[in-house]
Amino acid sequence: MSDCVFCKIVAGEIPSVKIRENDQFIALLDAFPACKGQTLVLPKRHYDPDIFLMENNVYVQFMLATKEVVSLLKHWLWVDKIWLVVEWLQVPHAHIKLYPFRWGKSFEWRFTGHTLADMNELQTLAHVLKS
Ligand SMILES: [Zn+2]
Repeated sequence: MSDCVFCKIVAGEIPSVKIRENDQFIALLDAFPACKGQTLVLPKRHYDPDIFLMENNVYVQFMLATKEVVSLLKHWLWVDKIWLVVEWLQVPHAHIKLYPFRWGKSFEWRFTGHTLADMNELQTLAHVLKS
């Protein structure tokens, strides 16, 4: 879809901070995070944001790709919970939002989710997550 922000990110037309990628999916640090490590997982191909309409094989692959990213976040950010949110409110491209969370402590909830993150900070975090 030519006017889709996520399609433009996949095409490299809009910069992003990727932490994981395979032939079908990418995971990137959300540029408008509500917390440290907030990550988006999305298919490279444009799908309707209602992921429950996906063909079963695509849906399963999407969940397995997301599971790998969850493991990465839990390991490197030392969190014990990852909140998984499927929404189709803002970008009309299937995606999952992952919110790292440490039980009993706020996990650097310092953003409103509407403020552009410091890209250098995201790059530093991505370096850790990809190591
Ligand atoms: Zn798209």
